[in-house]
Amino acid sequence: MNPARLSGRMKTVSMADRTLKKEDLGKLIDSVRAKGGRFVAPALLARQVVFRSVKSAEEVATGYILARNSFKEFLFPQTEVIAEFSMNKDSVGLKGVEVDAPETVVFGARPCEAASLKGLRTLFTWDFVDEFYTKREDKTVVITVGCTSGDEACFCTTVDLSPESTEGADVYLRETEDNGYTVKGLTEKGKKFLDTHDAVFTSGAAKERPLFKPETVPAVDLKRVSERLKDRAHYDDPVWAKLTMKCIGCGACTFVCPTCRCFDITDEGTAFEGERRKNWDSCQYDAFTLHASGHNPREHQPQRWRNRFMCKFNFYPEKFSSKGCVGCGRCIRVCPVRLDITEVMQEFSK
Ligand code: SF4
Ligand code: SF4
Repeated sequence: MNPARLSGRMKTVSMADRTLKKEDLGKLIDSVRAKGGRFVAPALLARQVVFRSVKSAEEVATGYILARNSFKEFLFPQTEVIAEFSMNKDSVGLKGVEVDAPETVVFGARPCEAASLKGLRTLFTWDFVDEFYTKREDKTVVITVGCTSGDEACFCTTVDLSPESTEGADVYLRETEDNGYTVKGLTEKGKKFLDTHDAVFTSGAAKERPLFKPETVPAVDLKRVSERLKDRAHYDDPVWAKLTMKCIGCGACTFVCPTCRCFDITDEGTAFEGERRKNWDSCQYDAFTLHASGHNPREHQPQRWRNRFMCKFNFYPEKFSSKGCVGCGRCIRVCPVRLDITEVMQEFSK
């Protein structure tokens, strides 16, 4: 963990147009489910708070900082079938499958992770419209809750976000002193959602809890990071090995990251029939860039880490005008060797 971390409090800004009482969260879940939707929220599983589909308010976690996983897996599942194939001596058949895209509400996401949606959308519609992603996102309402607590790994303010950011959210909530929420519809989709479930909400004022404010990581200059990464002279900089040699290539950082979206396509089954699957992949694996010839252009782990860092702070901002890192800190919390991306950001700010 980068030692140069402090925390503070933000001044509160009220912009709500409704309130949701604590005891009415269950009614909202029932109302969504009664219309055939799924309600995804942070909930305890194996002693960890993770996004999962819930059926009651009792399952929804409270007092969490950030779910351990990103809600991206409800738009971009870890594995899914995208086609089926069959072969016989006369023909080859390839059959597409219907996208499974249920009406979904993601409740309790944090503002940082919602900001990842712009980059995901741009990527999945870049040179080909991936309907397995777009159809699900179209049917998902993202409800963020401003953070009233955080930890040393949070660094949203360093990447120009904050607990008040609304990018990617359809509805923004603030916790209130009586354990309810103030509610603000942001997008047409969000406002329609609130109107559809209007009976669950109340009007009137409520006192909001103050927001947490992570201090910006000292000596980080995103412009300088980007400039240095554009200069290919950094490719052979020994600093990559110095900072990242301890990485064991487990890929955990990429799987929990809300902006990471690499996948592989595999055919599974027999020689005569089977299914084509889209599976999460990770640039931190040695086989990620392994050529059929046996040559691997990213043979060593620091080269793989360099690619991940460049993806976040050069490729995404340059190619898609979107954030490759939203400062959620998940990769820092999950890393088994305590490799902290903000230390690399500091190094490349010099
Ligand atoms: S790189 Fe780390 S801090 Fe940045 S968005 Fe991904 S998981 Fe969050
Ligand atoms: S979680 Fe840590 S050890 Fe694992 S691939 Fe990421 S940086 Fe490397």
